[in-house]
Amino acid sequence: MNRITKLFNIKYPVVQAGMIWCSGWELASAVANAGGLGLIGSGSMYPDVLREHIRKCKAATDKPFGVNLPLIYPQVDDHIDIIVEEGVKIVFTSAGNPKKFTSFFKEKGIKVAHVVANVKFAKKCEEAGVDAVVAEGFEAGGHNGIEESTTMTLIPMVRKAISVPLIAAGGIATGRGMLAAMALGADGVQIGSRFAASEESSGHPAFKQAVVDAKDGDTQLTLKQVIPVRLIKNEFFDRVQKMEYGGTSREALMDLLGRGRAKKGMFEGDLNEGELEIGQISGLIDEIKPAAEILNEILEEFRVIKSELENLNF
Ligand code: NDP
Ligand code: NDP
Repeated sequence: MNRITKLFNIKYPVVQAGMIWCSGWELASAVANAGGLGLIGSGSMYPDVLREHIRKCKAATDKPFGVNLPLIYPQVDDHIDIIVEEGVKIVFTSAGNPKKFTSFFKEKGIKVAHVVANVKFAKKCEEAGVDAVVAEGFEAGGHNGIEESTTMTLIPMVRKAISVPLIAAGGIATGRGMLAAMALGADGVQIGSRFAASEESSGHPAFKQAVVDAKDGDTQLTLKQVIPVRLIKNEFFDRVQKMEYGGTSREALMDLLGRGRAKKGMFEGDLNEGELEIGQISGLIDEIKPAAEILNEILEEFRVIKSELENLNF
C-alpha cells in the first residue's frame, strides 16, 4: 500500500493514461480488473458516447475507474454533468486550469488529479486542492508541455515543490521505468503508450502496429505554434515540419491541421495523413498484448530490478 493505492483504492500504483481514441471502456475496465487504475479518455467522445462508455465500464468491472477530462474539450460542461450523474468517483483533468473545477468535483465526493508539465502548474494544483498531481515529461505522446522538461528532471523538481501524491508520466512502459520514476520521487506512474498497443485499446490495428514498429527517434514534438503534440513522423508530420521551418503563419498551420486528424490516424488507421500520437518509449514496445499481461509484466520486472538494486553496496 502507498499513498496512490490508498487514494484510489487500487492494488498497484499504476494508472492507465486517458488517451483519445485508444482508451474506451474496454481498456479502462481491463486495467481496473487487473488491479491498476483505468481511465476512459473522454477528449474524443461526444457526450452520449462518454455516457455509453461509463455505463459499459461499470458493467465490466466492480473495481474503481476514472475519466480523463481535457478542459479544452468544447462540451466540457456536458461531460462534467455526465460524470456526476453516472457516479464516476475519479477524474483526471488536463489541458487547463485546475482551479476551475477541482472544488466542484471535491464537493461531489469525486477524487481529482490534474496533469501538468512544469513546477509552476504543479504548485497551482496543490493550491487548488487536488488529491494528486500527474507530472508529465517531454517523452510523453500526444499533447505535451511547451517547456520540454524531461521526466528525469521534472519529477524531482515537482517532488521538491509539492507534498500531495505525485504520479510520474512520460516515457514509462516497463518495471524499470516505474522503479526509476519512484526513485525520482513519484508515488505512482501513469502509462500511456504501452497500453495504446494493448489488445483492448480501441486504436486502429494499423496504428497499434505502427507503435510496435516505431524505433527510437521515430517520434517528435511538433505543431509547437498551435498546440505541441508528439507524433510518429509520417507524411503529415513532414508537411507540418516544412511549414514550421519555412516560417508559415499559425493560421496556415491550423488550416493544414484541419479537423479530426487524430481520429484519422489513431482510430481510422490512416498512417500517412493522420496524427499518430505516441510517446518516445514506443521504441521499446514490440508486441500487442492484453492489458492485464502488460501490467503483470511491468510489476514483475519492477520487483526483480528492485531486489537487484538492493544488493548494491558502495
Ligand atoms: P461499438 O461496437 O459501438 O463500436 C466500436 C467499434 O466500431 C470500433 O472499435 C470500430 O471497430 C468501429 N467504429 C465505430 N465508429 C468508427 C469510426 N468512426 N471509425 C472507425 N471505426 C469505427 O462498441 P464500443 O462500445 O466499443 O463503442 C461505442 C461508441 O464509442 C462507438 O460509437 C465508437 O465509435 C465510440 N468509441 C470512441 C472512442 C474514443 O476514444 N472516442 C473509443 C472507442 C469507441 P474496428 O476497430 O473493428 O474498426
Ligand atoms: P479536432 O478539432 O481536430 O477534432 C475533434 C474530434 O473530436 C473529431 O474527430 C470529433 O469526432 C471528436 N469530438 C468528440 N466530441 C466532440 C465535440 N463535442 N465537438 C467536436 N468534436 C468532438 O480535435 P482533436 O482530435 O485534435 O482533439 C479532440 C479533443 O481531444 C480535444 O478536446 C483535445 O483537447 C483532446 N486531446 C486530448 C489528448 C490527450 O492525450 N488527452 C491529446 C490530443 C487531444 P467526429 O470526427 O466523429 O466528429
